[in-house]
Amino acid sequence: ARLSERERLLVGRRQAVLGPAYRLFYERPLHIVRGEGVWLYDAEGTAYLDAYNNVASLGHCHPRVVEAVARQAAELATHTRYLHDGVLELAERLLATLPEAIGHVMFTCTGSEANDLALRLAFAATGGTGVIVTENAYHGVTLAVAALSPSLGPGVPLGAHVRTVPAPDAARQADAGFAAAVAAAAADLQRHGIRPAALIVDTVFSSDGVFTDPPDFLAPAAEAIRAAGGLFIADEVQPGFGRTGEAMWGFLRHGVVPDMISMGKPMGNGYPVAALALRPELVEGFGARARYFNTFGGNAVAAAAALAVLEVIEAERVQANALTVGARLREDLRALAARFPRLGAVRGAGLFIGIDVEHPDSRAPDPVAAGRIVNGLREARVLISATGPLGHVLKIRPPLVFSEAHAALFLERIESVLVATG
Ligand code: PMP
Repeated sequence: ARLSERERLLVGRRQAVLGPAYRLFYERPLHIVRGEGVWLYDAEGTAYLDAYNNVASLGHCHPRVVEAVARQAAELATHTRYLHDGVLELAERLLATLPEAIGHVMFTCTGSEANDLALRLAFAATGGTGVIVTENAYHGVTLAVAALSPSLGPGVPLGAHVRTVPAPDAARQADAGFAAAVAAAAADLQRHGIRPAALIVDTVFSSDGVFTDPPDFLAPAAEAIRAAGGLFIADEVQPGFGRTGEAMWGFLRHGVVPDMISMGKPMGNGYPVAALALRPELVEGFGARARYFNTFGGNAVAAAAALAVLEVIEAERVQANALTVGARLREDLRALAARFPRLGAVRGAGLFIGIDVEHPDSRAPDPVAAGRIVNGLREARVLISATGPLGHVLKIRPPLVFSEAHAALFLERIESVLVATG
């Protein structure tokens, strides 16, 4: 790829000091120096339409969040072992968005840690260790959750206590298929002498290829894991905080109450803050035996950031925006797919959209063409990525303040890329 002298130097420095485990986006990597709203700016001042970042869900550097972080950082930045209003107000506000049965929140810095804690609690509460995940799930980076993240590939072995089930692709299996697969996986664990502890799923199945419909297939799956003695954990790191438009949390679309709910990413709009919300009974025994202290989890600045995020979600009606702009964008993308045979099914909820890229004749998945579209859009100064087990699903997941005008610009650019890439 045509890199500038400066970009080549940065790539070299990166490899020298960060080592080989890091990956850059795009064939021609981007050197981003500033963000504002739905725009990212490179070192030359060129603007890129961000249709991918779900951390800066309220738009990059949202002034109200920046102000709340700066104000709190100037006043007090310390942990949860002193009395402080901020973390309590945040916990109360979060619980008010969750079902009645969910009564506690425990704070972490990352989604990985929240899932790791969920596992510890599930093991303690059920006496089991068996975990069921989807075939291409991602749940994080700790040793425990990497072992149940098949999307990391064959280089990261799954635990012997882990079973996978196909993602609930409505086009390929009946509604009841997902619950039946969970029941079969639980039975397989038991046959191997492993007691099931949990079914954990990302409620929009983002790394599996974005499966959001029909919005009811999770309830029978939760029943199936509970019937086997395990818990149902909703990983809301991707769908949470209004992303799906229809609800604040992805699981709410499915009319199911999870035992535990992990959240992160957009929670601080860029400031690292994450959490696990749960049924109080689940931490009773654990809390009697063990203490939980996460040095930076729920610190005063993190709490201020997350409180500001909750306020902006309401004040700017971002969930409603995700609903209307997302629905319209999917409709327009379906019209585009009807004209460009490389595009297949368009799925999603709110501003979380997946589009299959396929060989026009055989309809077989085409990750190479998906890569061409992603890199073509990058050259056209629009940022998206691809997902799914084969990497053939375009993943469109802009900040929730994406407007109709931004969506129109996106459509114009993707159309010209489709024309150019054939
Ligand atoms: N769960 C899901 C569904 C995720 O997408 C991610 C992050 N991509 C995580 C957990 C882990 O979160 P973090 O990177 O904050 O540890």
